[in-house]
Amino acid sequence: MKITFMGAAKTVTGSCYIIETDNARFAVDCGLHQGNAEIEKRNRGIMDYYPKKLDFILITHAHIDHTGLLPAAVRAGFNGPIYMTTPTRDLLDIMLLDSAYIQEMEAEWSNRKRLRKGMPPIKPIYEQEDALKTVPLMRTVQYGASFEPVEGVTVNFKDAGHILGSAFIELWVKEGGETTKIVFSGDLGHKDQLIVRNPSIIEKADYLLMESTYGDRNHKDSSNSLDELAEAISWSYERGGKVVIPAFAVERSQQLIYTLHLLYKEGKLPEDMPVYLDSPLAIKATEIFRNHPEFFDLDTKELMHNGDDPLSLPNLKFTLTTEESQAINNTEGPAIVISASGMANAGRIKHHLRHNIWRKDSSVVFVGYQGVGTPGRRLVNGTDNITIFGEKLNVEAKIFTINGFSGHAGQAEMLDWLKHFDSPAMKVILTHGEPKGQKVLAGLIKQQLGYKVHIADYREELMLVPGGEIQPVVKSKPATPEIDWDFLLQDSENLYTEFRSRLDKVKAQPFLSQTELRDRLLEINRQVVELISEL
Ligand SMILES: [Zn+2]
Ligand SMILES: [Zn+2]
Repeated sequence: MKITFMGAAKTVTGSCYIIETDNARFAVDCGLHQGNAEIEKRNRGIMDYYPKKLDFILITHAHIDHTGLLPAAVRAGFNGPIYMTTPTRDLLDIMLLDSAYIQEMEAEWSNRKRLRKGMPPIKPIYEQEDALKTVPLMRTVQYGASFEPVEGVTVNFKDAGHILGSAFIELWVKEGGETTKIVFSGDLGHKDQLIVRNPSIIEKADYLLMESTYGDRNHKDSSNSLDELAEAISWSYERGGKVVIPAFAVERSQQLIYTLHLLYKEGKLPEDMPVYLDSPLAIKATEIFRNHPEFFDLDTKELMHNGDDPLSLPNLKFTLTTEESQAINNTEGPAIVISASGMANAGRIKHHLRHNIWRKDSSVVFVGYQGVGTPGRRLVNGTDNITIFGEKLNVEAKIFTINGFSGHAGQAEMLDWLKHFDSPAMKVILTHGEPKGQKVLAGLIKQQLGYKVHIADYREELMLVPGGEIQPVVKSKPATPEIDWDFLLQDSENLYTEFRSRLDKVKAQPFLSQTELRDRLLEINRQVVELISEL
């Protein structure tokens, strides 16, 4: 069978692997590419995935870097089933709509700039109606209940312990009487995470596609995180200021509430300090978490069994509307504000930073990865001023960085998980990581476990041979030539705009032979229609 890496290859976002077997063509994940402009350009290349020719899509978990191109695929003609766990389906219901809204806003914003430069407008990558059309294609599956989406392909979802509903995917492909087993790790969680269960153990595979986000790093002990958060809270509480926490809406925000709940029980969260969850998406996601206690880990279930609700706090306030959000900054006194986005580059968090970053009594607590070039990264790196909404502000608030909240396994945890495999001939293919960390991890896997490791490249195509133990187990083939769909689409729109403006000029000059021109144009039009019908 052939596998093509359409994303998350030597980078972290855009997870999508297309598999072609004797009788099926399907994808594992269909994620949005996020990062610099060069990487984000890939989002306009959905036609390269040939979505119409995908029989089905398997989704490891709801994060947008694994699912954010689903509506684009549907818009481009994909019409097959999309398999995922129940919590993933519920989360996607709200996340894809939210993502579509962001795409629309971004297109609108860039069109305003394009208009000023006399450039034709661009369309959003997809719109809310495309997200709505994606929902009916979703099919839910249960952990551990294997199924056959097409003959010769068997699929099993196992708990990945990364976010609610996250899964590893075990895949058995039967070709020419032989069966090859591939495991997709999706994003791999770790044992100390609140709410979710520990990652499942897998022992057998011919090929393992494994994420490698923290290939060269380990996380700090998570019990430190509790103390670090308590310290940040008391720092601002004593001074009467606010604690501002930029947080991803799904999983991180819920883990923060859970952590605050634990601190509250230990008497480390002052009773008169309100906690605001100020993100409509995070509020909706919290509701979905509450609806699925059956997927929680034992510790959480035990708390609930004893009458405790870890996703609640006596002074927790949900602020859905813009007015409620603005009111937070009109209220004096200490408070904790959890808001998105997690890297402070968009969303309501920017307003909270604008109101607090220059105040000596405030603190800002970073609990997640801060991408290069984001305001979050600059603040973590200790900048003394920051521009928000065009206003340059001095950084006077105290900045805290807490590393222990990560949803990904660290280096040691990845190696630990790998140790459970009992498949000496297995080939490991590293995905979802930066080259530097991947190199380190690949070295350790070879050295400590003796597996052959391949680091996948963007758009690389590999043949996966049955059994996995045959020597050039993975045979590289040159990638198909890249078609610049972005350019092609844009160019045809440019052509149209140019043509219209020329025609307007002709119409203003009645002395030209317009009848002749019209006949010639109608003939060209007929030829163009013929050409298009060949697509
Ligand atoms: Zn993830
Ligand atoms: Zn991911």
